[in-house]
Amino acid sequence: MDTKEARVGGLTIGSSHPLVVQTMCNTHTYDVEATLAQCRSMAAAGVGIIRITVPSQKEVPDIQKIRETLRSEGIMCPVVADIHFSSETAIAVAPVVDKVRINPGNFHQDHDKARAQFARLLEVCREHHTAIRIGLNHGSLGSYITNLYGNTPLAMAKAAMEWIEMCVAADFNDVVISLKSSNTIVMVEAYRTLSRLMSEAGTVFPLHVGVTEAGNGDSGRIKSCVGISALLSEGIGNTLRVSLTEDPVNEIYVGQYLADRYDHRISSSMTGMSVNGKSVTATYDAPSRERLLLDFSCDFGKRLLDREIDEVTISGTYLDAEGQTVDIAADGFGDYLADELMQATRRRFYKPEYIACPGCGRTMYDLQEAFEQVKARTSHLKGMVIAVMGCIVNGPGEMADADWGYVGEGGHKVSIYKGSEPVLRHVPDTEAIDRLLELIGKAD
Ligand code: SF4
Repeated sequence: MDTKEARVGGLTIGSSHPLVVQTMCNTHTYDVEATLAQCRSMAAAGVGIIRITVPSQKEVPDIQKIRETLRSEGIMCPVVADIHFSSETAIAVAPVVDKVRINPGNFHQDHDKARAQFARLLEVCREHHTAIRIGLNHGSLGSYITNLYGNTPLAMAKAAMEWIEMCVAADFNDVVISLKSSNTIVMVEAYRTLSRLMSEAGTVFPLHVGVTEAGNGDSGRIKSCVGISALLSEGIGNTLRVSLTEDPVNEIYVGQYLADRYDHRISSSMTGMSVNGKSVTATYDAPSRERLLLDFSCDFGKRLLDREIDEVTISGTYLDAEGQTVDIAADGFGDYLADELMQATRRRFYKPEYIACPGCGRTMYDLQEAFEQVKARTSHLKGMVIAVMGCIVNGPGEMADADWGYVGEGGHKVSIYKGSEPVLRHVPDTEAIDRLLELIGKAD
């Protein structure tokens, strides 16, 4: 899709430029040394852009120091400040970073004041050649827009269009847009709708694509590939992040696979396909287990999402870590992959659906460990949507369609949510999963 170009530090995003892979630090930004160490690992893994959270103006000197130190070491990838809510923090940090990620709708309860602060931010960014990402997530839209359109993909796209129109009117062009959701159907529909609306309006800004709160392991990878590949295969998307509740370096390898595939540097390891009505059997000769999983998700995710097919089975072989050939059908692995893909495309649920944020500098507890424990204790709750979120400030708003939420407060305390309502607060983390299971049992 032909888009405008956005300059972000030394990179250009959009138009015919290669896809750019991003990730985000999960260290505390005030811990400059830990954040620098993570940035160096990301750079060594080939990341294109690094995002770092800036929870308040106190961390502005920290991110400035991190960026300057990286530059002094020859690590030139752009540094993005991630801002939630505080327009003053966005305005304070804009002069010292390459891009600021904001949701202007959250700048102020009073929508006119939010618009005024966004206009101020545009001028600061213009002066300092700082790009902007307007990042709206499903579940964190302002009431002014959900009252008009509900909590829908159309609402996400319409909300973005308001800020896009302000950028166009201000002749500010270093803009990237994202509309993420953990629900692959919502996410794909939101980006498709926004692409159409931007085309109709005559200005198409580059898009940052990703499935937010995708979780971890195989499920997180499959869900991310389904949503991102559906869009990239249609030419929608110019930069991407695979969000995993894992070491952020792991995100880069999956992201680079997607960039390589949709920039046509690699192709699928599928060797054959037979079609019977809306059922497909695909055969692979994959160089690794991970590659099989990624290829399969990209080959069939979009077709399942768009209901072009109803079932897919998989056969063939892959090479294990020792280079031995493994039959995909062995030990039910092929059935497992097909089940995972059906769940990621929301066609059939064979286990609970987990939403988990990747964590960032706002996370005040061991999110990865808590997520593993919640998964282990709730694996029998097929079809239930359970969210595990890293912070009480943004977590509840980002859980969107979760039935239950486990939200870390910090200080070894947890809040438990039923839908969007907190039902227990300040629960010690040693008891929180028991309390969650009791509540789910009572609600049955
Ligand atoms: S919900 Fe998770 S990723 Fe989002 S700000 Fe909080 S800790 Fe960071």
